[in-house]
Amino acid sequence: MIDPREAVRMEPGVNPDIIGAVKVPDGSVDPFRLTTANILAARLNGAHVITYHEVTGFVMNGNRITGVHTRSNKNGEKSTYYGRVTINACGISRLRVRAGERGGGLSGLTAAIESAKSGRKTAIVTTGQSALHFWSGSFEFLCSMRGEEVIERPVERAESLPDSHPYKKIGTHRTRRLLERVQPLLREAGINTLGSLDRNHYRLTPFGFLKPAWLTLDEYLYLDHTDDMAGKKTAIVNILSYLDFYPRYLSNGLRELGVECVLADVDIPELDVLRKSTTEMRSTNISRFLRNDAVDKLAREIDRVSRDCDAVIMPAVLGMFSDDPVRRLRQGVRRPIYFVATTPASVPGVRCQLSLRDYFIRLGGEFLPGDTVVSGTVRNHRLESIRTRNFGDMPVYADNFVISTGSFFGHGLIATIDRIYEPVLGLDLNVDCGRTGWYEKNVYDPQPYMAFGVVTDNRFRPSLKGETVENLFATGALLGGFNALKEGSGAGITLATALHAASEITR
Ligand SMILES: Cc1cc2nc3c(=O)[nH]c(=O)nc-3n(C[C@H](O)[C@H](O)[C@H](O)COP(=O)(O)OP(=O)(O)OC[C@H]3O[C@@H](n4cnc5c(N)ncnc54)[C@H](O)[C@@H]3O)c2cc1C
Repeated sequence: MIDPREAVRMEPGVNPDIIGAVKVPDGSVDPFRLTTANILAARLNGAHVITYHEVTGFVMNGNRITGVHTRSNKNGEKSTYYGRVTINACGISRLRVRAGERGGGLSGLTAAIESAKSGRKTAIVTTGQSALHFWSGSFEFLCSMRGEEVIERPVERAESLPDSHPYKKIGTHRTRRLLERVQPLLREAGINTLGSLDRNHYRLTPFGFLKPAWLTLDEYLYLDHTDDMAGKKTAIVNILSYLDFYPRYLSNGLRELGVECVLADVDIPELDVLRKSTTEMRSTNISRFLRNDAVDKLAREIDRVSRDCDAVIMPAVLGMFSDDPVRRLRQGVRRPIYFVATTPASVPGVRCQLSLRDYFIRLGGEFLPGDTVVSGTVRNHRLESIRTRNFGDMPVYADNFVISTGSFFGHGLIATIDRIYEPVLGLDLNVDCGRTGWYEKNVYDPQPYMAFGVVTDNRFRPSLKGETVENLFATGALLGGFNALKEGSGAGITLATALHAASEITR
């Protein structure tokens, strides 16, 4: 600190009424003039200045750098320059990564985690919410064939899928080996699941039906057989005035399975604030208030209304940022308590997405949310760089790219009145019919548009105008050749193709 008189002496232009000033031992420069002055000074001293070129690699002699490889950004011409000393003054203006992911849903995150684990510098560019925000709490591998038959042993049945199906492209044996890594991977990220590829189990839908599943969150209701709960007295407990959970549908469904159901509402004062407006009583809002002491109070209320019951079922509205509130509630209630999915948004789905994101960041990954990839430059069958809305005219370079932008829901595919297209690169799609062929009039029939997606080779490298893009891998719901809804295969394909792409990149 210096006194005001000293400040006015040093800088006569300052407001004479100031009551104090700070002297910083610092200076400022005009960066453009400084750079230009440095270039001129270097030239005067014999330097050769090359602009519009980017350094793409080093020339090495043992462990010494003896030069650099460059590429002209004007005409792509490649050159090599040698020197005794190489100075890297690139600053932070360029993002160059070993693997670039587009889409931060289940597929993009899984592929990125595997890539980051192998030590590769990996970045995800992602626009926004994914299918995980609507997640049921279960991952499906293969649940149904032709929309009717319920499958018990899913890997065996996958053998009879057509050769164009993603599981068959990977090979069912290899698919199985890849997917065996999913449960440990989820556990590393803090997500605990139950289930096995050997045999589907059953999950309870919000409408009271049992559906087959491969993996289910360990806090959810999980049944090995449809009659596992028969004869049990179960309390279906809702939060007072919460409307995105349907106890009556659930009890109707469970009663058909021989379960005796008791319906009850519970309330704690902490939630009063949400009842001021009906629109506030939503799963994600409730979860923000169900923490610490509020969870203990809720546990006491649940205990009170579920006396004489064998188990409790309640909506999955706890633990958006961690599963601590879930574990605390389970400890506080004296009988087994199971959660059932609500209608969206899915609190466990948001938690799953955040857990995978945090794990990726812990592995050193670069997560760029709220940005959208708008285009890319393909040269010599390789995707050289991508452009994003936020980076503007600064391209993002990578050795390999993964495109996991989802299907119509994620905006990985766009449908207009007369065409369907992939909006980032214009990749080839398997849409080989006119508009009337996109759908079946009976809405319950398998809808052809559900199987639309990008065309790839057997390594999931997509094609652009008939030519394979060699360093790009397409994964997840963006792929064509399957109907995730009718087959119950969404997460299995998403995860298998993500792990497959990661193994291609890291091998
Ligand atoms: C509503 C819904 C619910 C589902 N629930 C289940 C379920 O409970 N169980 C199950 O097994 N399967 C479910 N599925 C099937 C689902 O397809 C897969 O399970 C899977 O989650 C899809 O993951 P994804 O990463 O391929 O795509 P998405 O989850 O759609 O993610 C794509 C991501 O890419 C981003 N993106 C898109 N374009 C760009 C761009 N140009 N630049 C940057 N980012 C971009 C999007 O914002 C989004 O975050 C569900 C599908 C839907 C649509």
